[in-house]
Amino acid sequence: MGKDTSIEWTHHTFNPWWGCVRVSDACDHCYAETWAKRLGVDVWGPKSERRFFGDAHWKEPLKWNRAAKESKTRRRVFCASMADVFENRKDLVPHRLRLFELIAATPHLDWLLLTKRIHLVRKQLPKGYELPSNVWLGATVENQDAAKKRLKYLLEFDSPAVRFLSCEPLLGALDLRQWLQVGKAGTRIDWVIAGGESGHGARPMDPHWAEDLRDQCNAAGVAFHFKQWGHWAPVEHTANVVKGRKPIHIVRRDGVEIELAAVGKGKAGRSLGGRHWDQFPDTGNNV
Ligand code: SF4
Repeated sequence: MGKDTSIEWTHHTFNPWWGCVRVSDACDHCYAETWAKRLGVDVWGPKSERRFFGDAHWKEPLKWNRAAKESKTRRRVFCASMADVFENRKDLVPHRLRLFELIAATPHLDWLLLTKRIHLVRKQLPKGYELPSNVWLGATVENQDAAKKRLKYLLEFDSPAVRFLSCEPLLGALDLRQWLQVGKAGTRIDWVIAGGESGHGARPMDPHWAEDLRDQCNAAGVAFHFKQWGHWAPVEHTANVVKGRKPIHIVRRDGVEIELAAVGKGKAGRSLGGRHWDQFPDTGNNV
């Protein structure tokens, strides 16, 4: 569904289709799957059909592109919140081609393609296509194992305007330092988004993991965006909303005990170290 969005780090969302299959620890509480099921749409798993859309849906980004051009302000489009653009299925091939044609036809939009299948991007690109310069290519990295497996594929690409990471849900400590510097391929990570998990069964995020990521990005001069605490937040951040709730306790690496409370993402907020982190990469792209 294309629509204006209240997500801070993007202006619009666009889904070329709905449906996916779980491939990663980060998928365990996939909100898109939960949302589709709540609407009674059976599009998850290898055997289910995907849900496709008609022409009116595909024309929406053309309107956004015209508005961006007229206002001389580039707009970010998150694609896809209800799917993974690089899922490997035959029936997705024509829709992915249509998406890349749309991206080429909307040069005033920056398209954020976030995937857990970064190793498949090259293979799934439509024949004859390279990543256009208005693509921001992103990989989900929820823990160090995922970083080791996925980042080499992301850094192979030199054509996207931005290479970014979504460290959400952040499920473990991450040392990204080697990828925040320009490597042999002449590329590096340009932007890191981090956040905790929300929703039913959300796994707590150690505050130290988020603080450490922020510090690594600051030291390397890489843009950092803290999206949310998620369902769990440090008690000292939520003192006015945790009355009557039982915090859990976790122990930080340095032995200091931090109490986290299950307050829900709305109340947990997104303040880290006393401020919001809303940094964006500078692409040098003008409208
Ligand atoms: S890849 Fe994304 S959309 Fe697909 S199951 Fe995992 S979290 Fe959900």
